[in-house]
Amino acid sequence: MENKVLIFGHRNPDTDTICSSIVATKLADYLGYDAEAVRLGKLNKETEYVFKYLGIEPQREISTVEEGQKIILVDHNEASQSVEGREGAEIIAVIDHHRIADFATTSPLYYIAKPYGCTATVLFELYKQHNVEIDKETAMLMLSAIISDTLLLKSPTCTEKDALALKQLEKIAKIDANKYGIDMLKAGTDISSFTAKEVIDMDAKLFSEKGKKFVVAQVNTADIDDVFSRKEDISFAMEKEIADKELDFFLFVITDIVNTNSKVIALGEDKDIIENAFKKELDEEDSMLLEGVVSRKKQIVPPILDNL
Ligand code: MG
Ligand code: MG
Ligand code: MG
Repeated sequence: MENKVLIFGHRNPDTDTICSSIVATKLADYLGYDAEAVRLGKLNKETEYVFKYLGIEPQREISTVEEGQKIILVDHNEASQSVEGREGAEIIAVIDHHRIADFATTSPLYYIAKPYGCTATVLFELYKQHNVEIDKETAMLMLSAIISDTLLLKSPTCTEKDALALKQLEKIAKIDANKYGIDMLKAGTDISSFTAKEVIDMDAKLFSEKGKKFVVAQVNTADIDDVFSRKEDISFAMEKEIADKELDFFLFVITDIVNTNSKVIALGEDKDIIENAFKKELDEEDSMLLEGVVSRKKQIVPPILDNL
């Protein structure tokens, strides 16, 4: 077992998960923990852009933790999105901005959850609260996470706190967040080199709720048609995933980050749950356009859960 406290975010890591685990590790070190940031998967292209920009290397990847390992979770709490072996680990803290589901521990812990647009904003406040200086690199990591999770403050998940944090971080980092943010978001939308399986895995979240098992995967783009042109391959990969994981349905969300709309593809035995959730019929391509919908957490998952 590793002596260090391991700090990590969810599987299929996004920019918030990767950056916030590093930012949280710096804070934990400051507070006297011997901590190490790790990750549960490979970096996406958007996060790669951040690391290249900063000229730093990503943290080590792990897939399981041993019995008794001390861990701190950021940007998630649900077991299905977390590390393998977590049931035997000791969770000493959670820093998150998601709903709380299937969460139980045997020991007391720090649980800090706020309904903000980004985990990094929660961490920004913790740095302030503990009077810890935010250096330039830390500011860039936080700022990148906030831009990613809030789509440059345009997502409905974005709160005043996120906007306020971004404004202050922009000053520390001495950067034009808008310009940097557009380049960063665009870097994340290039999926041309990925197979259909990789595309549907990139930002996939698995849910087990009310006896239903389903995946909601999301991909950001500047051009929906560009992604949709690969519909056949993507559907094939989705069907395979449904069979392999015995899913009741699979929802694939293509989000246009420029015009803030999403086109979805729904497959599986219970895909009518999607029609009920969005009060709209799937067309002959098992697809529908959801206008103004960009947030999985706020606009997609809740109506699905209401209609299971
Ligand atoms: Mg995340
Ligand atoms: Mg997040
Ligand atoms: Mg995300």
